[in-house]
This record gives sequence, structure tokens and C-alpha cells, in this order.
Amino acid sequence: MLDKVVIANRGEIALRILRACKELGIKTVAVHSTVDRNLKHVLLADESICIGKAASSESYLNIPRIISAAEITDAAAIHPGYGFLAENADFAEAVENSGFIFVGPTADVIKLMGDKVSAIKAMKKAGVPCVPGSDGPLDDDNERNLKIAKRIGYPIIVKAAGGGGGRGMRVVRQESELLNAISMTQNEARAAFGNPVVYMEKFLENPRHVEVQVLADGQGNAIHLGERDCSMQRRHQKVVEEAPAPGITPEMRKFIGERCAKACIEIGYRGAGTFEFLYENGEFYFIEMNTRIQVEHPVTEMVTGIDLIKEQLRIAAGRQLSINQEDVVIRGHAIECRVNAEDPETFTPSPGTISRFHAPGGFGVRWESHVYTDYKVPPNYDSMIGKLITYGENRDVAIARMRNALNEVIIENIKTNIPLQKSIMADENFQHGGTNIHYLEKKLGIGGH
Ligand code: ADP
Repeated sequence: MLDKVVIANRGEIALRILRACKELGIKTVAVHSTVDRNLKHVLLADESICIGKAASSESYLNIPRIISAAEITDAAAIHPGYGFLAENADFAEAVENSGFIFVGPTADVIKLMGDKVSAIKAMKKAGVPCVPGSDGPLDDDNERNLKIAKRIGYPIIVKAAGGGGGRGMRVVRQESELLNAISMTQNEARAAFGNPVVYMEKFLENPRHVEVQVLADGQGNAIHLGERDCSMQRRHQKVVEEAPAPGITPEMRKFIGERCAKACIEIGYRGAGTFEFLYENGEFYFIEMNTRIQVEHPVTEMVTGIDLIKEQLRIAAGRQLSINQEDVVIRGHAIECRVNAEDPETFTPSPGTISRFHAPGGFGVRWESHVYTDYKVPPNYDSMIGKLITYGENRDVAIARMRNALNEVIIENIKTNIPLQKSIMADENFQHGGTNIHYLEKKLGIGGH
């Protein structure tokens, strides 16, 4: 097993990684910014190093400082968590070139899947179903582009190959708007991502977001751990996630899961990863792969009983997968509500000191968070301060436990989105299951579609 791991992240995921390391007997190094000295995992780590100022560019995004911390502490590996440098191929390369293990795939694979055009090409080749599209980048040949769009059929969506975070996309409903939309998306993509390459896809009107969790050891073995539904979104940000996805049959799970696992082997994938799909009328359409652990990984852990962070660390240590596909059994249902320090109506961030905190509990309740009474939520980072996960033998039980847990948790002096989460759990359509990606925005009265 690895001897010592640098946790190159903060907040709840840093604490999650620390707990997994401790269970495996791995020593931990917390690297943190000046405002994060009192983070829970910093206080619990074997060693901690302040690597810079609050601004992420000075700390959590500063590659040389993180690598220096690994050198000073003589660590074996660096776990990037999610966000920050987790999908940065240059970081993965710098980590490995400095003689450390990157807990994740190789830089080449991160690069391949980070470019949406090359990712789609690789997935099509591997037999993963994709959205009908241009099958490659668009060039300056207007006639050709008009022809491609006609073949796909309107509405279509023009997307940036280097896009991310829900940016660099434009929906086109009629031919007369196409050429203008292509050049505008190219300009935006050049400015935002330094890569003007764009491509086209069929625009799906009312899909759900369904994603498949995989584990691969980079030594020829890969498995899938079923799917999650993350359709409850606002501005492309997930708000509630669940596993399994309502209405997905074991046959469908096997069909899509096996294709994802096979694709992992074809691209030489190593570690935990997620294949994201739009799901409409019983069909899956690949949109992108996340080459890291995701925020919503606990719902998969609850229904499979598999600790994904421990598996990541085992794979990083060079072990082969210890689980076969037949060992993966989906049992019961799990739901996750993201708890954000924000105004539940305006969504503006609400940093500040938590004057009183009480954690929810009970059978089937899991609270993943770094906060405590007197903890000060800094204004510098993402507003998520915790994740509430409930498990039940079925979806109704998981929802009932979530509603209890949301009523129990006390977080005083800052605003949180708990009122919004309560209203989602009380929503009849959510309770029925299977709402699409536009549902929450429509419910909030801010729907653009
Ligand atoms: P990003 O990397 O920016 O998150 P994605 O490719 O994952 O970009 O797409 C983000 C979101 O944009 C999707 O979750 C979906 O809501 C919407 N979207 C992307 N492609 C399509 C499509 N072909 N049809 C309909 N909606 C789409």
C-alpha cells in the first residue's frame, strides 16, 4: 500500500480522502491555504503545510507548491480530489515526472477525454452510444457545415471541444442561425478555453442526466458500478443525485455499463471515472467523461457497498481490481442533497461563521462535511459545505429519511439551500421519479427552455 499521500484539495472531499487513507493505514499530508488552517482534515492529518494565500491560484491551483509539499514530506502519491487540478493533464504529468503517483489516470488519458471531440471519437470506436453529430470538428466550409446540420436535423447544439462547466454551447433551432452561431461559439471558445475548435450535436429537448461509475486498474481490468441520476440541476450544476436512476432496468444497466467498462480497457483507463450520458426515450447518449472522483460518488457507495476512494488508492498503489463485475450488486436506493452556503432564493453565496451546528443522524443517514460550530466558511471557494446522503431499501424510504435529516440539521448564522432541498424532497414529481434536466429551473421559474 502507499505509505503517504498528499491531499491536494480542501473541504469535504479532503476529509473524505483523509478518512479513507486512515482506514488503509496511509499517512496523510494536508496542503492548505492561509484561510484554511482550521479545516477539519488539516487538524486531523499527520502533517500539514500551508502552501499559499486564499486565492486558488496561489494555493490549490499552484502546481509547483503542491509538488514541493510532496517532496518536503517525502510522500508517495498525490490525490487531487475533484475540481481544482483534478482533470488537469499538466498537473498529472508534473506529478508523475517528479516521481510521485497521481491518484487518477495518466496525463495522456486525461488529455484524450478532456477534449470532447477526441473523447467522442474514442467512445464511438469503443461502441459507446453518442449523440448524433458532426463526428469531428467543424471547419470554415460553410456549405459543409450547413449540410452536416441538415443531416443531423434541427435543433442542433454547437459545442466547444475544450468546453467545461456548462459554458461554450449554443442551441440553433433553424438553418438561418447556424453560421452565425458557429462563429460566435468559436470566438467564445477561443477567449474562454484558448481553443477555438467547435463541433455539432443533435440537441435533445428533454433528456435526463444519467451517468455510469467505473473503476479500472490500468492493467486490463475494468468494471462498472451502475448508474446515477443527476437530472435535478440549476445552471448545469447538480443539486440532487441518486442511485440507481429511476426506471433503469437491470438489462439497460448491463448494456450501458458493459460498454463503459470495455471503453475503459480500450483507452487504457486507470482509476475511478464517470461516463456522463443524456438519456431520452430509453436511449443513452454519451456527452463526456469525468476522469476523477465525483461529488456524488457516495450514492454509488451506498447502493454497492464499495468504498470508491479506497479503491482509487488501491489502484494507485498498483494493485489489480479486487472486485469482479459479478461482485457488484445494486441494493436499495440512495439520494444525495448538496448543502451549499447560499441564499436559497437568490443563490448568492453566504459565507461567514457558523454559530451553531448540529449534524443529522439515524439509520441510513450519512453526513459528509468538514463544518463544525464556529467554523468560518471562507468566501474564496465553491459554496458547497456538505453533502447529506440517505439510504433506504427503496426510493421512498430514502426520501423519507432525507426529509427527516433535512429537518434535523441545524446550521446557524449563514444561509443555506436546505429550504430548497426540502421543497425538492416534497415535490410530487420528484417523488414520482424521472424528472428531466429542465425540471428544477422550471419549478424555480427560471427555465430557459
Ligand atoms: P460541460 O463539460 O460544460 O459540463 P457537457 O457536454 O457535459 O458540458 O454538457 C453540459 C450540459 O449541457 C448537459 O448536462 C446538458 O444539460 C446540456 N447539453 C449538452 N449537450 C447537449 C445536447 N446534445 N442536447 C441537449 N442538451 C445538451
